[in-house]
Amino acid sequence: MFTIKGKTGDWEVVVGLETHIEVLSKSKIFSGASADYNPTVSPNTQVSFVDVAMPGMLPVLNEYCVEQAIKFGLGINAEIAKKSRFARKQYFYPDLPQGYQITQASGEPAVVNNGWIEIMGDDGNPKKILIERAHLEQDAAKNKHDMHPTKSFVDYNRSGVMLLEIVTFIDINNPENRSYITSPEEAERYLRQIREIARALGVSKANMEEGSMRADVNVSVRPVGAKYFNERCEIKNMVSFKFIKTAIEYEAKRQIEILENGGTIDRCTMRFNQGDGTTSVLRSKEDALDYRYFPDPDLLPLIITDEQIERIRKTMPELPTATRARYIEKFGLSEYDATRLTETTDISHWFDAAVNGKTERAKGVANWMISELFAHPENYDITNEKSGIVDEMRIITPSDLAELVDMVAAREINGKQAKDIFIKMLDGESGTPREIADKFGMKQITDTGAIEKIIDEVIAANPSQVEQYKSGKTGLLGFFVGNVMKKSGGSANPAVVNEILKNKLN
Ligand code: MN
Repeated sequence: MFTIKGKTGDWEVVVGLETHIEVLSKSKIFSGASADYNPTVSPNTQVSFVDVAMPGMLPVLNEYCVEQAIKFGLGINAEIAKKSRFARKQYFYPDLPQGYQITQASGEPAVVNNGWIEIMGDDGNPKKILIERAHLEQDAAKNKHDMHPTKSFVDYNRSGVMLLEIVTFIDINNPENRSYITSPEEAERYLRQIREIARALGVSKANMEEGSMRADVNVSVRPVGAKYFNERCEIKNMVSFKFIKTAIEYEAKRQIEILENGGTIDRCTMRFNQGDGTTSVLRSKEDALDYRYFPDPDLLPLIITDEQIERIRKTMPELPTATRARYIEKFGLSEYDATRLTETTDISHWFDAAVNGKTERAKGVANWMISELFAHPENYDITNEKSGIVDEMRIITPSDLAELVDMVAAREINGKQAKDIFIKMLDGESGTPREIADKFGMKQITDTGAIEKIIDEVIAANPSQVEQYKSGKTGLLGFFVGNVMKKSGGSANPAVVNEILKNKLN
């Protein structure tokens, strides 16, 4: 369990996340304007009268957006409400021309309720994270403060694009139900899993760098084993996994210090300061009452039928949790390996393509991917949002790796040669692994006669080591194996070398 040491003892961390993902659809949730707001589109060109709240304009619900929400709900094992309502959340800001955001009020059913996903917990075991709800709402426009020294601008292209806000559940009446996030690492794994589900379903790009995924992070602390929860603070609008982890840890320590000095935590909204990794108070937390939520009189209740749900259920692809289970059950992979290989759908697709239905190949492919392809952190930069794969996976194709694994399994080449071929491929050598092996004359010597001859030479050349070995220094076996391998140019089969050597030396 993740804990933080304080002066008075160890503390545990309780994390709740409100994650906003920008939903992929052609048009906005309540207007016909294009939902393409990306920075290459000229500002204020994808805007209808509804999006800028011209008097008398009425919102019309986009059914495709609703289907995206249902799809995501099914993807997180949730209940889809047959009936839910839209509400107005009132506040003033230049990026919100209506003076309210159309959303779904807390305290009544959202379109998606009571879901869960599974992540790898800090103890390495699967852990269920409960999700209270996912609701539909409008995104705001974008304020631009950096285009002019004294003026601010507003780009309304994003105004009214659909968001899905996904809220985790912490059972405050049952502090022993630990199906929530309890560490910075679990927060990251949860967000990655949400991102993968959204991407696998085509619901969102869920890209933090682009801002199509943003999280509000609620943090509280309690002494290890406490049967109550303390007040929490919320860090707003986080758009990087790394910063989220830093912010949780800093905020937890800040709260521990206050509590240990006899103070109390006041509910408030925090800002994260990227420069020094600290959090600071932005404002005391507004209450639901301050927003004066009420049902939007311009919109009918949202009614969803069983047929609609069933029709969408039939189109669902395999999701990361099911993929992971398949890797463990069908291929016998460890929980850890299966988790690494399902971190992104691009990675699991690559793995499936390499295995290509050949179960006997799966473990070899998994080992190569995890220990070689993911080996270099500078290439496997998981904070790099742009790609769901590592750079090496563009150079080496799934069929290349499959052939390499098969060649080792068939003892055509040994592990050392396989690695040489692998590196040659990364360096741009053309051809398949077998072609490269032929070109460079790499072939494993399994012929015992040839190996025996080399062994005899090595033994004859090192009489004193032989004597030491025979008098009990069996650790010297590695010395002999090394010399034999060297003499064979790295092409001898190490298993055969070991076996013959042991026989000869005993
Ligand atoms: Mn929201």
